[in-house]
Amino acid sequence: MPAIILKNGREKSLLRRHPWIFSEAIKHIDGQPKPGDTVDVLAANGTFLGRGAYSPDSQIVVRIWSFDSSTQISSQFFGEKLARAVKLRERLAIKSTACRLVNAESDGLPGLIVDRYNDFVVCQFLARGTEFWKKEIVSVLKELTSAKGIYERSDVDVRVKEGLPQVTGALEGIEPPDLIEIQEGENRFLVDVKRGHKTGFYLDQRDNRKCVSEYAKGGEVLNCFAYTGGFGVYAAKGGAGHVTNIDSSSDVLALAAKNNELNGIGPDKIENVDGDVFQLLRKHRDSRKQFDVIVLDPPKFVNSRHQLEQASRGYKDINLLAFKLLKPGGFLFTFSCSGLMPVELFQKIVADSALDAGREARMVRRLGQAEDHPAALNFPEGSYLKGLVCEVS
Ligand code: SAH
Repeated sequence: MPAIILKNGREKSLLRRHPWIFSEAIKHIDGQPKPGDTVDVLAANGTFLGRGAYSPDSQIVVRIWSFDSSTQISSQFFGEKLARAVKLRERLAIKSTACRLVNAESDGLPGLIVDRYNDFVVCQFLARGTEFWKKEIVSVLKELTSAKGIYERSDVDVRVKEGLPQVTGALEGIEPPDLIEIQEGENRFLVDVKRGHKTGFYLDQRDNRKCVSEYAKGGEVLNCFAYTGGFGVYAAKGGAGHVTNIDSSSDVLALAAKNNELNGIGPDKIENVDGDVFQLLRKHRDSRKQFDVIVLDPPKFVNSRHQLEQASRGYKDINLLAFKLLKPGGFLFTFSCSGLMPVELFQKIVADSALDAGREARMVRRLGQAEDHPAALNFPEGSYLKGLVCEVS
């Protein structure tokens, strides 16, 4: 088997079982591995560290499949890993017909996302390794899930970094319909698995949607970066007096409108506004409009480390404006889904925002991703979703 030999001292993260090897850590390569091939990773002194998938075009040249030298990477390996991932979700009390079955690195399968929407399974193959083993993975998933169809949504930017084309389409069984209706708790949602964001729905926000519904009763709610209206539906069903969804995409708002209707929420209760959150928050500030609950769930602002400062300014801007728009006793639900934004820094930005807005605020809850999105302890990047619920006086 080809081997990747690391520079002296670069074995530390692997000994802590972090599964990524960056190009600058490599001293030399023995043999001529092809993209996706299984390689052994050795310390400078020849000690075995792990066995993983080779991806020469990426900054992350190897993603580790196993830290055990006796593990063979074969269909059986994927059978065991996938069975374990699916078993975990069966044990969790997820009150939804949609859930994440495989959460990549955190389920020991770097570069593989698998989500279930009722009878359909939607996958993303995000790295050379999972691309290489696609056929085997799909065959195991077919058996494990008895899905009517397995659909691929590998139309994501990270594929470009891996030197892979962006592809979508049915991999197995029948193609899913354009919209799949899922039941999440008491609420129903239409999911566009073929064209929606990620695999169609923000499954990671499931518990946080419920949390918003608990704070919304009787209030005026502003749901910023609404996508297909998940938080808005929960707020309205939780008894909000009125909800405003803001998003800059008319396509997602059209689906939000359908979701409102599906849940029996009339246009008198929810308004969908097509616009830019940064501008609309300023407009509300200038007209002195106030809200009881504001949700800020922006897209990922940080895609690489050097964007952290600019992203911080973006978070500061919207959080500061939101604090200004809250009635005394109101609640801010503020999120960051950027894995590169540390939770401490995010909390500091939110604290600075309250200070600059001249509002006294206290944190009443910390929020994170739903439990079907586990984060391996050896992989801090896996804890990407951070949320704070703050009350202002
Ligand atoms: N809260 C949503 C997910 C938000 S995803 C949920 O739980 O389902 C981020 C959304 O922000 C996307 O729908 C995108 O269209 C929207 N968006 C991005 N930039 C925006 C901007 N400047 N103003 C308004 N919406 C924006």
